Amino acid sequence: MARPQARVARPMPRGGRRYIYAFGGGRKDGRAEMKDLLGGKGANLAEMARLGFPVPPGFTISTEVCTYYYAHGRRYPPVLRARVGEALARIEKALGRRFGDPDNPLLVSVRSGARASMPGMMDTILNLGLNDRTVAGLIRTSGNPRFAYDSYRRFVQMYGDVVLGLKPESKDEEDPFEVALEEKKRARGVKSDTDLDTEALRELVGEFKALVKMRKGVAFPEDPHEQLWGAIGAVFGSWMNERAIVYRKLNAIPESWGTAVNVQAMVFGNRGEDSGTGVAFTRDPATGENVFYGELLMNAQGEDVVAGTRTPLSLAELKQKNPGAYAELVKIRGILERRYRDMMDIEFTIEQRKLWMLQCRVGQRNGIAAVRIACEMVAEKLIKPDEAIKRVTPEYLNQLLRPIFDPAEKKTAIREGRLLTKGLNAGPGAATGRIVFNADDAETWAKRGETVILVRIETSPEDIHGMQAAEGILTARGGTTSHAALVGRQMGKVCVVGCDALQIDYRERVLRLAERQDVLKEGDDVSIDGFTGEVFVGKIETIPSEVVQVLVEKTLEPVDAPTYQRYARFMKWVDGARRLRVRANADQPDQCANALAFGAEGVGLCRTEHMFFGEGKIEPMRETILAATPEERRAALAKLLPLQRADFAGIFRVMNGRPVTIRTLDPPLHEFLPHEEAGQREVAAALRVPFERVRERVAALHEFNPMLGFRGCRLGIIYPEITEMQARAIFEAAAEVRQAGVAVEPEVMIPLVGHVKELALQAEVVRRAAEEVMREKGVRFRYLVGTMIEIPRGALTADEIANVAEFFSFGTNDLTQTTLGVSRDDAGRFLVPYVERFEIYEKDPFESIDRAGVGALMRLATERGRARRARLKLGICGEHGGDPASVRFCHEIGLDYVSCSPFRVPIARLAAARAALGA
Ligand code: PEP
Ligand code: MG
Repeated sequence: MARPQARVARPMPRGGRRYIYAFGGGRKDGRAEMKDLLGGKGANLAEMARLGFPVPPGFTISTEVCTYYYAHGRRYPPVLRARVGEALARIEKALGRRFGDPDNPLLVSVRSGARASMPGMMDTILNLGLNDRTVAGLIRTSGNPRFAYDSYRRFVQMYGDVVLGLKPESKDEEDPFEVALEEKKRARGVKSDTDLDTEALRELVGEFKALVKMRKGVAFPEDPHEQLWGAIGAVFGSWMNERAIVYRKLNAIPESWGTAVNVQAMVFGNRGEDSGTGVAFTRDPATGENVFYGELLMNAQGEDVVAGTRTPLSLAELKQKNPGAYAELVKIRGILERRYRDMMDIEFTIEQRKLWMLQCRVGQRNGIAAVRIACEMVAEKLIKPDEAIKRVTPEYLNQLLRPIFDPAEKKTAIREGRLLTKGLNAGPGAATGRIVFNADDAETWAKRGETVILVRIETSPEDIHGMQAAEGILTARGGTTSHAALVGRQMGKVCVVGCDALQIDYRERVLRLAERQDVLKEGDDVSIDGFTGEVFVGKIETIPSEVVQVLVEKTLEPVDAPTYQRYARFMKWVDGARRLRVRANADQPDQCANALAFGAEGVGLCRTEHMFFGEGKIEPMRETILAATPEERRAALAKLLPLQRADFAGIFRVMNGRPVTIRTLDPPLHEFLPHEEAGQREVAAALRVPFERVRERVAALHEFNPMLGFRGCRLGIIYPEITEMQARAIFEAAAEVRQAGVAVEPEVMIPLVGHVKELALQAEVVRRAAEEVMREKGVRFRYLVGTMIEIPRGALTADEIANVAEFFSFGTNDLTQTTLGVSRDDAGRFLVPYVERFEIYEKDPFESIDRAGVGALMRLATERGRARRARLKLGICGEHGGDPASVRFCHEIGLDYVSCSPFRVPIARLAAARAALGA
């Protein structure tokens, strides 16, 4: 979280560490900046108390206790019991109620709160302190027996689940407490929880306890202190539960941070129709619009809203019902945005018309909202452009480049009656895929290459792996603050929630629609529009995002594209902040045009071999390979030259004076010939050479380890005429374009160099061709000759190589394969478990640079190369050039540019700016 940076000195009381920090009821021991110690929730509760908001009194047990707990075999610091007792006594004093008092009981909530927000990942227990004796006190003080028993049954349910572990045991099983609740409603002939009377709720408490006893073999604890310590233990224990571990892994949250525990006096949103509980965002988290956005449920407790089991009221409706509380919320909204300078997410409760603030934190948002909020907060002078850059992650920017439905196809779908229903638009983008009904299936299907939409009644934290695997998420229940919406939004998934019309049957694996005949089965196609909330049966083609339409397809005018306009403004700031240049890997003029549209500043890698697969080019290439004599080879190459020249000229024209790095032939020659006899016969016939010659040549070119064989500069050294032809084609194209008045900046790159003599031999051929062409054409232009650094010997002898090379470009695909001794083409079999199960590498080293190994070689080559040639140009053109963490590394070691695929250029630009800002 951004916001005030100053570190606050923590008082260390006499008698050891301070483990407990109080807030509310006149106390404010902590503040927003103390998140490491108090967790996000605890620090923000303290801050809200400091800002004078109405916060129910409570205390935070610090994250140091969690660290201690795990370091000492799940035991607490010995002083903790006494300190908790004192803190509890302060709450009792502030409120005039006592914990466990059968006449006037204090009830508390116990919640987790880590340094980073982990929505729904850890556990919460409400109404703690109730038992068969204290419930009588609650009845007496509230004068509302129904409310008291409703609170009691909720407590038993939550405690039974979180602390005593009574949960569904298989993916098809429903929550046993919910089953009992549904059964009770059926037996009483009522529809909603709120229709259950006191007696029914009282029975439920007993039934829930019996369920616990039967399924878990333990009696439900009646002693409030035992309850409290059970809950504290469960919260600390939840730090190591499976879903928290998965979440931490996905979000790179270190285990060592630990969680804090917040114990706070209860206030009740379920105390009648003048009470309620709500969630709000200081701006719309789906679109980023500067409006106060929220919802609340009357006569309900907090978890009802997040679980999304009932449809809530809007803030406008609250204004009607309780203008005082609404006005206070509006005031709090303003204070919070000014204090935190960010979009905040708040939780509140209204108890008998009085507002209480329960939580605030920086709100989750999607990419579109993130960019909008950042841009608008700069305009409102709440933040500076640098801060805006720090807040928009590469992943958010990626979401801006997401697809939408083809409008024509969507219209057709509506005309054909395929619009099934409409839910809430919780996560933008358009997704089309096959229906699965549970998270495990989503993961399995996605692994085998299916695109799936995860369809659930509602999602819970257990579904996180399936949500991650799915293209989109669709739920029948819940508001825009439900779990599905929050988590889906954070993952950047297309997400539609609260589709009341969906009737989902997990056991039959079908989906029915109220008032329609359609029955959709597992595996059927469904399409969801996360911008509008629409749900369609069948497939709908998707088309690129607004940004892509304006920049690449040119089918939309910028004036009609507000998202594009914000993107453009934001990217200007990004370009102002970065030091690294960003180029693209592009082999053809149209790819270069895309790259330019996305802001590329040059071509970092043109793989010439890709051109040989174009129309009419593969035959002369094959002739070259099959040539029996150097003369035959030259004749075949002479046919290739004009074709290559035309390709290069096209690229130079589009790039209009920007640097273009063209690599000489790299892949092993067998890649250009067919391996099957039928194909070989065809080639023989087409080229009018004997079949035997083709067959023999293929056999001769066969290598056991072709990626370490006759490829790269080795080809050009053995057949210099190939390099000569390519160099000529490059320089003739450069001369032609230059003469047409367009500037050119060719950079010829020799691949797979391990020894300076290899480069020297090839550079000599290239420079000779350059001089000849310039003389012949009577034109001069600047050009560079350089090399890829992609095998370890090249990196280690970078100083010698820099004697000849004018630039290096790190080929981190090959450098990773050769440094790790891992084949880049077929390592999946063990690399996946290496990363996921054994954690040998933190991430796939072919995706994100292995800093300690490959990175060390890059650093060394950079230093040695620059020591020899101070102005050596340095770049990277392996796939890592578009990976934000690798871009950061390239910034750190002082490269001049990164080069990546055109569609990743905006992400690389942002990653470079964030690296420069230390974000
Ligand atoms: C590399 O090895 O990183 C590289 C860019 O070259 P290629 O992927 O073509 O081998
Ligand atoms: Mg390579």
